[in-house]
Amino acid sequence: MPNSPDLLIAGGGPAGLATAIAAACQGLSVVVTDSHRPSIDKACGEGLMPSAVEALARLGVHPDTTEHTPFRGVRFLDATAPCASAQGLFRSAPGIGIRRTRLHQLLLNRAHSLGVRFHWQTTVHAVENTDDGFIVAHTTAGLFRPRYLAGADGLHSRIRSLIGLEQIPYGRSRIGIRQHYAVVPHTDLVEVYWSPHGQAYVTPISASELCVAFVYRSRPSTRDHLSLFPALEARLCRATPIGVTRGAITLTRSLRQVTRGNIALVGDASGSVDAITGDGLALCFQQALALVQSISVDDLSSYQQAHARISRRPRLMSHLLLLMDRYPALCARVLRAFSRRPSLFPDLLSLHSGEEPLRLLGSGGLLASLLCLLSF
Ligand SMILES: Cc1cc2nc3c(=O)[nH]c(=O)nc-3n(C[C@H](O)[C@H](O)[C@H](O)COP(=O)(O)OP(=O)(O)OC[C@H]3O[C@@H](n4cnc5c(N)ncnc54)[C@H](O)[C@@H]3O)c2cc1C
Repeated sequence: MPNSPDLLIAGGGPAGLATAIAAACQGLSVVVTDSHRPSIDKACGEGLMPSAVEALARLGVHPDTTEHTPFRGVRFLDATAPCASAQGLFRSAPGIGIRRTRLHQLLLNRAHSLGVRFHWQTTVHAVENTDDGFIVAHTTAGLFRPRYLAGADGLHSRIRSLIGLEQIPYGRSRIGIRQHYAVVPHTDLVEVYWSPHGQAYVTPISASELCVAFVYRSRPSTRDHLSLFPALEARLCRATPIGVTRGAITLTRSLRQVTRGNIALVGDASGSVDAITGDGLALCFQQALALVQSISVDDLSSYQQAHARISRRPRLMSHLLLLMDRYPALCARVLRAFSRRPSLFPDLLSLHSGEEPLRLLGSGGLLASLLCLLSF
């Protein structure tokens, strides 16, 4: 029945499309609705961590068919004193920088090839779990009666409020502004410039383009974002800003529960981590795979557990990194400590990217080394 798919997905962003692909790969019939129509753009740093690239490969999505740039690791720099910097390389595979619209098209192509059906400019405005184990979803394109519903409608999820799932915010939300520059990338790392105003994340996304995401605790005093990051301004003095400047909110928050009956939340709708982690897209793809695994065994409680496990590391990392954002004096000391002990940052990057187990933070003495360096 066209209006009774196995899975109805509200939201055709990265989380919704990844869920649709994973479900279609399992032979489920899938319908996706989105309030917008392609191509869907969004303010983003446009960096996929190695774990995101790996999850994409499991979904059968291969970035080789579109323009993108691999990056080998991450470098932190003090935006006011560029000599204070630290860098680490990924030990296993590189990450990739890719324009958000190209990533969206890539996911869309894969979903189309698997027979996923789409209703664009369509919103879900009421949902209910019925006694016979189905869902009734009222949408602007008519009534649907799917077996499962996935809410993949982002940070301000309507599905989340319709089913009354509560959020636990951590700290304040921050403002992100994305700008592309036409310039040959000067690096094959993602660079994060730290200033007392916030951070600028620089990602090479093609042979002739950089993406810069500026992220602030409060509205910046100027639209000349580069002037707040002198070291980056010096780097990009010959670069031309191109395309549309976009803004979005970013925040870290979690939900006690991400399922209700046969309805599950996925991606930013199910809790989020601050953009500073670079992990938002990896979470979307990993959660999508976990959700479909649970649907295929008809047991959403296993998704609840998998979701908690997948989110644990990025959430911890975001708490640690946001301390550096909140206390600029601490941030300057941490960057100096990284410069003094060059092996420290690569070790922390391995923890962040999941190449090493989290317990090494304590038992491997990493935290102790950092605290010891900070006390000088
Ligand atoms: C400044 C910034 C920089 C970032 N940088 C990175 C980075 O470098 N790497 C990384 O991995 N992550 C990054 N992130 C996080 C990443 O962008 C998000 O985690 C990711 O976009 C979440 O995808 P999603 O599909 O859950 O939500 P979204 O991308 O928000 O997609 C939600 C979709 O739902 C649709 N929708 C919304 N409401 C409705 C409705 N009522 N009905 C139907 N459809 C609806 C929207 O049109 C949209 O298509 C960044 C975020 C910000 C703000």
